[in-house]
Amino acid sequence: MARDVIIIGAGGGGPVVAKELAERGLEVLLLEAGPRHGDPEKQWTHFENDANNPLTGFFRFGPADRAKPAWLRELPQNSFLWQLSGVGGTTQHYYGNNPRAAPGAFTGYDGADKSRYDTAHLFPFTYRELIPYYEWMEHTLPVQTAAMGTKEETFFRGAAGIGLPVNTSKDISRPSFRPQENAILQPGGNAGKTTDAAKLVYPQATGCTFCGYCFQGCVQPRQAPRNLKAKRSTDNSYIPMALTAGKWKAGGKPITLVTDAFATKINTANEGGKLVAKSVTWRVGATGEKVTEEAKVIVMSAGCTEDPRLWFNSHLPNQNDWVGRGYTDHFFDWVVGLMPYSTGSAKGVGSSARADFPGYGGLENVGLPPAIQAFSLTFSDQGTQGGYTNGLGATGKWDGKAGRVNGMALRELLENLDRLLNVLVITDDDVEAQNRVTLSSVFTADEHGPVAKVIFKQRQRTARTLANREYLANRAAELARAAGATKVLRIGWPPLILHVQSTMRMGLSDTNSVLDANAESRAVKRLFVADNAALPNGIGGPNPTLTSQAVATRTAEKIFQLYFGGDPWVGREAPISSIDDVVTAAVLGQSIKPKAPAVLAVTGSERAVPVAIGAAALGSAALTAVVRRAAATPVESAPAEE
Ligand SMILES: Cc1cc2nc3c(=O)[nH]c(=O)nc-3n(C[C@H](O)[C@H](O)[C@H](O)COP(=O)(O)OP(=O)(O)OC[C@H]3O[C@@H](n4cnc5c(N)ncnc54)[C@H](O)[C@@H]3O)c2cc1C
Ligand code: SF4
Repeated sequence: MARDVIIIGAGGGGPVVAKELAERGLEVLLLEAGPRHGDPEKQWTHFENDANNPLTGFFRFGPADRAKPAWLRELPQNSFLWQLSGVGGTTQHYYGNNPRAAPGAFTGYDGADKSRYDTAHLFPFTYRELIPYYEWMEHTLPVQTAAMGTKEETFFRGAAGIGLPVNTSKDISRPSFRPQENAILQPGGNAGKTTDAAKLVYPQATGCTFCGYCFQGCVQPRQAPRNLKAKRSTDNSYIPMALTAGKWKAGGKPITLVTDAFATKINTANEGGKLVAKSVTWRVGATGEKVTEEAKVIVMSAGCTEDPRLWFNSHLPNQNDWVGRGYTDHFFDWVVGLMPYSTGSAKGVGSSARADFPGYGGLENVGLPPAIQAFSLTFSDQGTQGGYTNGLGATGKWDGKAGRVNGMALRELLENLDRLLNVLVITDDDVEAQNRVTLSSVFTADEHGPVAKVIFKQRQRTARTLANREYLANRAAELARAAGATKVLRIGWPPLILHVQSTMRMGLSDTNSVLDANAESRAVKRLFVADNAALPNGIGGPNPTLTSQAVATRTAEKIFQLYFGGDPWVGREAPISSIDDVVTAAVLGQSIKPKAPAVLAVTGSERAVPVAIGAAALGSAALTAVVRRAAATPVESAPAEE
């Protein structure tokens, strides 16, 4: 018997479609190439090499059996590709920052700065159309105003110092700064008030305990039910909901999750003159066995690199040659300020403050544990500071020339880890056909077929992308100085490919997009993409996952309407949060009465507003106090430790 829907990939996007359609009662199979970490308190450690080693770490792109090698991709340029396998995918690493996209990245935008965006590759629908889906996601995850500490105060002081105002809205409309909108639960009880591990156990502690190890996955608070772990990576949010769908929602049906299942082929048939997706073949990692199952609809959510690879290995049509092209990565860069006071850089939530520059991109503060901090300072495309420049060595508001830090200068920064302010430069970069995924002709095929080759021509990017990056790097350096930095360095990163977007892009035109406005393949019917690959562009620079997940929610609704005769629900029903008591009871296996759909009263407005969260908090007295304090604190004095 055919499944209703098979979803390939349980990372940022796949679990969203899985949970939404399971909640509607469909028979959903979710396939994941990597492992499921079912008991992370026992399976994970805070040691950086255990977690982050790209070849052997529990957070790598590789099979469940870590005695086996990681899966390779060809990177023909100086770059690093940061994508994980396993339930939760790359959200296991992520910092939970969940800003909405820049409205200028959408069709229909009519702001005075409209020409500043990548107007050739806009979203095929309006920003306004996506807002109810954002609200649905923001309630379900949930998204809250980020928990903040001393490093955020430092960032705010710098942002206020360069004349930026505070943004009190979720929408990005002018240059401004603010706390992150963040999918990490606010601390409660003992959390954030003690470092005594015995007191940081659920339910004495709830939400973020400020442990400082977001990079290594969130197991806090210890003993909390999986859906109440602080960081809302999908393994903690959407997956627990999808696996228990029948229990917390009347009419729901739990999904079937199969891990260690690497999809190697999407099979099609010709029906009525159209190519239609029919089934998926996957390889069982432990045995090498090949399994094929049929479904009425197939959803690709294997991420920006593996979606095109799977497409090519399935020999699906590529009529306009856009499959795999248009890869955007926010062409990151890294500016580091050394402060004369403690910033608590390695402590607490990884990144809780941001500044937006619509039409250019944004900046955010990032706290890192020591080994990754060292990596961040030594990863450069611009040679070595004080040495060779590799043909670049950019100059600007930072000290000296951009480049890798080494020797005593590196030692000075690492010895002062908690006096750093790291500023990540997030460029609003253009969709370019030359930046792409194709199949490697150099590496031999692995057990899943020819492997992906990821090409970024970083030195030949468009003039807008390069200019945006220089503009932001200069603003970052100014911000660090305004916060009191005695030394400011720019590293000049090569592509650090972890904000990944648009390799299977939705688009208005069939000449340069793979998907239509419903995220259905133009070439193969009943085949959808629901992950970052479906995004039409780099969304103007904000972190991509919330937008990708909001679009995935919309895609689930389109699938339900187009192929299962259902009605839309977003803006009509109240969403159920992943931390609702009914979900917790379901996760704990308690006997509970599932919730009936709560229908919203639709008034005269275009849509009902299901929730009011986060945005309201942005204007709260607490934020105002933090920002005032940051702006008023003299930079010479040492703010309190977190
Ligand atoms: C250190 C770090 C910090 C980040 N912080 C943020 C942040 O704060 N905010 C933000 O918005 N974004 C952040 N990101 C990016 C974020 O993680 C991604 O946007 C998000 O995970 C993308 O979701 P996805 O579904 O497209 O891909 P992924 O999450 O990569 O999921 C793809 C899944 O598909 C599986 N898969 C691949 N091929 C196959 C196959 N053939 N068969 C079966 N399964 C397959 C993979 O194993 C994986 O689990 C961060 C990333 C990193 C590395
Ligand atoms: S800092 Fe907070 S969100 Fe990050 S891993 Fe620790 S408890 Fe989880």
